[in-house]
Order: sequence, then C-alpha cells, then structure tokens
Amino acid sequence: MTREKEHREVIVVGAGVSGIYQIKRLIDLGVDAIVLEGDEDLGGTWYRNRYPGARFDSESYTYGYSFSKELLDEWHWTERFSSQPENLRYLNHVADKFDLRPHMRFNARVEAMTWDEDERLWHLELQNGDAYTARFVITSLGPLSIPTLPRYQGMDEFTGDAFHTYWWPKEPVPLEGRRVGVIGTGATGIQVIADIADKVGELTVFQRRPNWSTPLNNSPISDEEMVEIRGRYDEIFANCASSPGGFEHVPDRRGFWNLSPEERRACWDELYEQPGFAILAGNFMEIFFDEAANQEISEYIADRIRRRVDDPAIAEKLIPTDHGFGMQRLPLETNYFEAYNRDNVRLVDISDTPIERITADGIQTTAAHYDLDVIVYATGFDAITGGYDRIEIRGVDGQALGDKWRDGPSTYVGVMTHGFPNLFMVAGPQSVSGSTNFPRAIETGVDWVTGLLQHGLDHGRTRIEATADAEQEWVKEVVRAHERMLFRRSKGWFTGYNANVAGHEEGKIRYQAYFGGAPRYSEVIDQAVADGYRRLDMS
Ligand code: NAP
Repeated sequence: MTREKEHREVIVVGAGVSGIYQIKRLIDLGVDAIVLEGDEDLGGTWYRNRYPGARFDSESYTYGYSFSKELLDEWHWTERFSSQPENLRYLNHVADKFDLRPHMRFNARVEAMTWDEDERLWHLELQNGDAYTARFVITSLGPLSIPTLPRYQGMDEFTGDAFHTYWWPKEPVPLEGRRVGVIGTGATGIQVIADIADKVGELTVFQRRPNWSTPLNNSPISDEEMVEIRGRYDEIFANCASSPGGFEHVPDRRGFWNLSPEERRACWDELYEQPGFAILAGNFMEIFFDEAANQEISEYIADRIRRRVDDPAIAEKLIPTDHGFGMQRLPLETNYFEAYNRDNVRLVDISDTPIERITADGIQTTAAHYDLDVIVYATGFDAITGGYDRIEIRGVDGQALGDKWRDGPSTYVGVMTHGFPNLFMVAGPQSVSGSTNFPRAIETGVDWVTGLLQHGLDHGRTRIEATADAEQEWVKEVVRAHERMLFRRSKGWFTGYNANVAGHEEGKIRYQAYFGGAPRYSEVIDQAVADGYRRLDMS
C-alpha cells in the first residue's frame, strides 16, 4: 500500500549544525518547512562522534552560531575547545530555545529524491516508508557523515568490541585494563589515542601513514573570560569573516623570505604555544604555495616531534615523509606524542608490516598477531560527496546525480548543480565549508540559500536552476584555486581520495572543496545577489 505523500514548500534534509540553523531561518520567514533527519535525534556530527577525546578544534566561541545576540549572551563555553558532550548540549539548547524540534522528523532517512518537471516538485522517499513532496529541497547532509571502514578479511569474525569512531556507542565502553587497537591516525585517531592511552591496559596503534600534528593548547574559559569574549563577539565574527580560513588567526603577511631563518623560528616558537590552528592559519602564506618554505616549516615541526618522543626510532615513524606540514588537514592534539613514551602503548607501522586480516581475537599483520579486546576503526569518511551518493537523486530527464558526479562534483558556488532544479546544498561540495572553519561557512551558506529562496518566493518562482555556464565557470575557479596549492599532490580527503571507497582512484583529484578562502567566496556569492541572480534560470 502506498502511503499518502505529505507536501511541504521546503524540506531540509539533515538536522546537524547546518540543518538546525536552516530551519530556524525558514521558520522566521514563515515558510512551510520541516527537517528530515535520519538519526533518532538532532546534532549530526556532534550526535554521532562520541568517541573519547572528541572535541572542537576551532575555538568554541568561533564555532557557535552568531545569529542571535541573546544566544551569544547566555551561552557559556567552558573550554576554549569544547568537548562533544558540551557541543551536543549546545545544539540541543539552540533547538529548544527557538522551539525547532516540532519542525523536525527523526528516524526519517531519505533514500530517494526524484524531480517531477511537470509538477515542479521533488518527490522524496524515506527508509521508513514515508513519502513527501516539496517545492524546494535544501540538503544539509554534512561533509563528514558517511564513515568508511577498511576492507580487511575477517572483520566480522572478531569477538571483542569493534566500531568506527563515528558509531561509538552511547553507553560507556569499558576500556580500563583492556587491550585496545586503533587503526588510523587522522584527526580522529589522534584525539582517541591521546585520550585513552593512560586509561587502557594496552594500546596498539596501527599506523599506515603518519600525520603532522601540533598542540591544541586547550584551556578552561573562566566566567571573566567569557564576559570578555561576549564583549568581543562582533569583532570575533568580523575577524573570522575576513580571514581566509574563517578563524580569528590571520596569516602573517610580513613575507616568509623577508625574515631571517632565526626570525621565522622565533615566530614559530610562539605559534606552537598558541591555541588551535594558529600555527597553520597564523603562519606565512608561502608555506602553502612555496616548496622551500613548506620544507622549512616541516623540518621545524619534525624537530618538535623529535623533542617530544623518547625513542628516536618511534619519533621518525611519527614524522610524515610523503607530504609536508599543512598539506593534509592538520589534526590538533593534547599529549599525543607523549602517549608513545608510555610502556603500555606501541606503534605498529602497517606500511612496513601490513594488516593481513582481522581474527577472532585480534589483528594479524605480516609480522605478528596482536591480541585485542577492542578494535577502534578511526578510518575516516567518504567525505563531502558521500552523503549525496547515499541518496538516489534524480533530476531533469531522470539523470542521476551519482552519474553526473562520478568523477567528482560540479556545482555552482557549491549550492546548486545544473539539471537538478530547486535543490540547494548547504555546505555542499565545492563550497568553502570543507576548507574553512565549518560553522562560519555554514552560516554564510544558510543565509545565502535563504536569501535566494526568499527572492524566489517573493517573485512567485517555482523553478530555480543554475545555468550550465555558471556551473562550468565556478568549477574552473575551484580547480584554479586548488592548482595553486602545494597540497594538490597529497592524499587524503582534501583531494577527495579515500581508498576505502569504491570508484576512487589514487592520484585522481576530485575537486570537492573550494580553497580560494572565505573572503573570496563571500565576494562571489554576494556579487551573485547584487547581479540579481542572473546566472540562474528562474521561472
Ligand atoms: P582521516 O583524516 O581520513 O584519517 C583516516 C585514517 O585512517 C588515516 O590515518 C588513514 O591512513 C587510516 N586508514 C584509512 N583506511 C585505512 C585502512 N584501510 N587501513 C589502515 N589505515 C587506514 O579521517 P578522520 O581522522 O576521521 O578525520 C576526518 C576529518 O574529520 C578531519 O580531517 C577533520 O576535518 C574532521 N575531524 C575534526 C575533528 C575536530 O576536532 N573537530 C576531529 C576529528 C575529525 P592514510 O593516511 O594512510 O590514508
């Protein structure tokens, strides 16, 4: 029996950081809208990633929403880089404060979306059998919402506890005295390893490639500091908007080569002690473009690692040799390198001795068997386009989005893609959100989409589509920005490569994110508004 379809003017897909703000804006506009969320509650990334050590690596007060002064004035971040439980409390607080829950449907995972040209409507089918129609669909699927597991033999045979960090259980997982193996040393693995090293019986880290990593330098925020932060919110958000990375840290514009090596080192000594991404976003821009500059900073950070790890052979294993500092997304850490000085922690280099299989009681490499009670897969995500690939999206003439994007996405400013009218992506592929302080870009994206929608509704438009020309032009800008960066030769999700995802080819770049910086992105989308959205077909 087919259930009757419920109609809404706008359907938002996903109730994470973007979906929460998007529905708030739509309600304020008086638009008939709901959010469909696949999980049983709101929060997206902060609902899911409950692994030990999960926390912001953007300053908390630059991560929170900026849209409500009242919200800014009443919320107290307890740490400069707040932890997952507090982040989820914050998102729930926002939803409750603005009474957003009644506009959200949970356990409502969208499986298919089909465009009907005659009706000018999207038809949505859900996993739970529900069905909807909507004039406009806004996807806020999250860039890191599809976890990927390795494909080792025997993964189902392991008799202990095993999970991807994204699926870390809600109930506490006992770790005390147990033998834990962690596979993966990206931002997630590094947070987990540093957090659990002194809590578990034995910790074995299975590292394929090391990552550069620098101190988070976290600290509590006192009442007095919070008062000071509140007084500076306007300035903080203005600074974020004008910096390439969307952070308060601004690049050092003195010019790398205008300073002596000693002056540069003195500068890095200071940055290394500063919180968050200061060492990256507050560094000289040349480190991202100029090979010699990148080599020098890489050597500096390598020395820092050597100073922190007791065993010189282990230290060398922890220093990347296949990419320079800042060429992959930088993980931030607290006592990560010191973890390897502990007697209960060992590092297994699986590029030397690869994992052969998972067994009933551990991991077998080409060199040894490691007995384990728990396996943690910190193995990353089908980043940015993964969420889109999991929904069967069919646009004009039944074209599948998955087919259009087989070799990588192509979009107009990361918000629309030709052939898929009335579909707006918040923090979508080729927007600036994957490459900058995420929530700042989310607010920019939601505000722009809301403005466009309002324009459409005010003018009685029932069909809005990006032209093919506009899309091609944007893709060119995305590629141009990417080609300028040294990291274009690196592996990792910045270049869209994940060996665990079928169809990804090593060395083939999928241009998934825009690396031209937040100010340039804002300039482009603001100009689009000033030009009366002339690059869009509206009728
Ligand atoms: P990731 O950076 O993609 O790292 C995945 C790790 O797993 C890498 O070390 C990778 O090794 C390893 N791996 C993948 N497949 C493997 C296999 N088959 N066998 C062995 N090792 C394998 O993923 P992530 O650490 O989850 O981080 C993803 C992104 O999430 C971050 O870059 C960041 O943007 C975000 N994040 C943010 C925070 C925060 O503080 N706010 C925290 C965590 C994550 P290779 O390097 O050799 O591929």
